[in-house]
Amino acid sequence: MPESIEEFYVIDWDTIKRALSRTERAKVLVQVPEGLKPYAPEIAERISTFAPDAEVVIDLNPVYGSCMIMPEYFRDYEVIVHLGHDPYPLWSSPRNVVYVGLRSRFMISEDVVRELGNIVRSEYGPRVAIYTTHQHFHDVERVASLLRRAGVTVVNDLRYSVITGCWFSDLDRAVSEGVDALIAYAGGRFHALGMGLRTGGKVPVLRLDPYRNRAEDFTPEVLKVLKLRYGKIRTTLDAEIFMIIDGVSGQHRPNLVALVTSSLKEIGASVFTGRAFILNIETLRNLDSSKIDAYVITSCPRLAIEDLANFHKPVLTPGEALMVARRFLGRYVFPW
Ligand code: SF4
Repeated sequence: MPESIEEFYVIDWDTIKRALSRTERAKVLVQVPEGLKPYAPEIAERISTFAPDAEVVIDLNPVYGSCMIMPEYFRDYEVIVHLGHDPYPLWSSPRNVVYVGLRSRFMISEDVVRELGNIVRSEYGPRVAIYTTHQHFHDVERVASLLRRAGVTVVNDLRYSVITGCWFSDLDRAVSEGVDALIAYAGGRFHALGMGLRTGGKVPVLRLDPYRNRAEDFTPEVLKVLKLRYGKIRTTLDAEIFMIIDGVSGQHRPNLVALVTSSLKEIGASVFTGRAFILNIETLRNLDSSKIDAYVITSCPRLAIEDLANFHKPVLTPGEALMVARRFLGRYVFPW
């Protein structure tokens, strides 16, 4: 593991300095995304040099997105430094949250982009839309122009190309206007899979992974996951008692809970509602009984897919629960 986070990310320290300049003895909470937690002490140390009288505390809860900030932190800390994500588009966070950019130093090579351009053109067609994450946004224009040089047409407005695991910017519009393939410029499977689920597997997804410097067709993986999801949806068609689990802060979705609840009740199901800040398989094991046939996670829809898929009872996303309630499986609904 590299000694310093700055070996692979450029951190926007100026934003932190500006936020701290307004308050000298601030209580500061630092939130670092999962995977980068080992660098939290380094970041806290650096923040202390900007404001030596500040009390700097590291948030040890999971930080998968900017949707996950414990409500009591808003009162306890004057400044919450949240690294690595843009504000969650579906939630207005309090003003003491400061979003700090992390720009990845990993960039995909020209050769690999050209290779991807060839795969897209030969397998699917020339029209693509590219989406990325906060960490790679600064590089997406370069990737797009390399693709254009490879004979590919990029149809989406790259200013709006950052997505999350449950929010896909203008992807629906790009798809409705006609694309031959979608490109995820991101490491890991999370964002590429999200894009594939959003279209219900109707549009091929290719991934450009800047960490491994690889281009690959991610479509088979999307179809594999969809098959598993349909299996869970079908099993749930007979369920009579549901537990809906809502979250807090940006993951608290009362309107969605109400919609899923009323839709399930319309088919004669009984519904319990629970709420959790952190939800994992242990939570479900502790809670589970013969009183519950299936679970619906409205907090983070990716939990049902990534973390809770191996639970012995069906755990659905809100979109999947609505498919069950409407008895219509013809179009995969993701995430809600
Ligand atoms: S996928 Fe989950 S963690 Fe990511 S932004 Fe959505 S709710 Fe938050």
